[in-house]
Amino acid sequence: MEEDRLLQVSGMKKYFPVRRGVFRRVVGHVKAVDDVDMFIREGETLGLVGESGCGKTTAGRTILRLIEPTAGEILFRSSELGNGSGKIVDIAKADKRELKHLRRDMQIIFQDPYSSLNPRMTVASIVGEPLVVHGIGNKKERNDRVKQLLETVGLTENHMKRYPHEFSGGQRQRIGVARALALDPELIIADEPVSALDVSIQAQVLNQLDDLQDEFGLTYLFIAHDLSVIKHISDRVAVMYLGQIVELTDVDKLFNSPLHPYTEALMSAVPVANPDFESERIILEGDVPSPVDPPSGCYFHPRCPYSEPVCSEKEPELVEVEYDHYVHCHLAEELNLMGLESGASEDD
Ligand code: SF4
Repeated sequence: MEEDRLLQVSGMKKYFPVRRGVFRRVVGHVKAVDDVDMFIREGETLGLVGESGCGKTTAGRTILRLIEPTAGEILFRSSELGNGSGKIVDIAKADKRELKHLRRDMQIIFQDPYSSLNPRMTVASIVGEPLVVHGIGNKKERNDRVKQLLETVGLTENHMKRYPHEFSGGQRQRIGVARALALDPELIIADEPVSALDVSIQAQVLNQLDDLQDEFGLTYLFIAHDLSVIKHISDRVAVMYLGQIVELTDVDKLFNSPLHPYTEALMSAVPVANPDFESERIILEGDVPSPVDPPSGCYFHPRCPYSEPVCSEKEPELVEVEYDHYVHCHLAEELNLMGLESGASEDD
């Protein structure tokens, strides 16, 4: 694994069995994550974007081993296991003891701040729980740490004895962020952390995540379906379609000059704040195919406006077409696709 990478995923799969009949025989598999390759550099935010049901949440949870992977390698540079020196561990093969250490390095922020916080626990218990589980500090030290964490996310000591229902959505998400920070992690997987919030609150939470990244040197895998949120927060972006990464590059390249037809279609649906620019929305034919029985060759071929015979015959590979720009398409070097800002100037 290259030195600047914190996480590197190769060939990661997560298949869920489909069972039928009295004997619950396995009759097929839902290929939720199907041969994913990607990497995250230390200190960056990798946005993972795709329509709902494309497998991005499953991918995030498989990386954390909250769900067992079916196959693949998930390499992580762990400062916890390497005593600060950064030992590379394959999360997919980590034993129980290693996983417990890795849990300190990697945390998750969940989508729904209403259901991810236990309604019967006070804020102090919720934020302090990871410290108790990992046996960190005595009661007073933990209390002090909780106070400090709440201040870090813009809450106060007065909130410690209150219950989640007493807070707004934005405040609850801050509590979730404080809990994620409790163990001083390296990597945070933020799974649609703002999609359940009002737009006005979304910006506050996003800016706070940005500030925390600078303050604590955090690395984020930021999962979202909203391209404007992804554009705002990401350094690089991975686009996911039907369980696979179809394009992976830095945020400017992706938005200005996408090389995968699915990315182009996603971009065409984003409104551009420029009255002189008329973007033509690309309407994809048909529905997203079933992950139980994905199409032959390129999974996108039944809906792709540029499809050629080779596309249904042979599965493409994720290839580095130009520096740091990986694309999963046979025609990536031949097509001339429109980005969100090709021919338009748009301000954030
Ligand atoms: Fe479209 Fe073919 Fe590229 Fe798939 S491989 S995205 S079908 S052009």
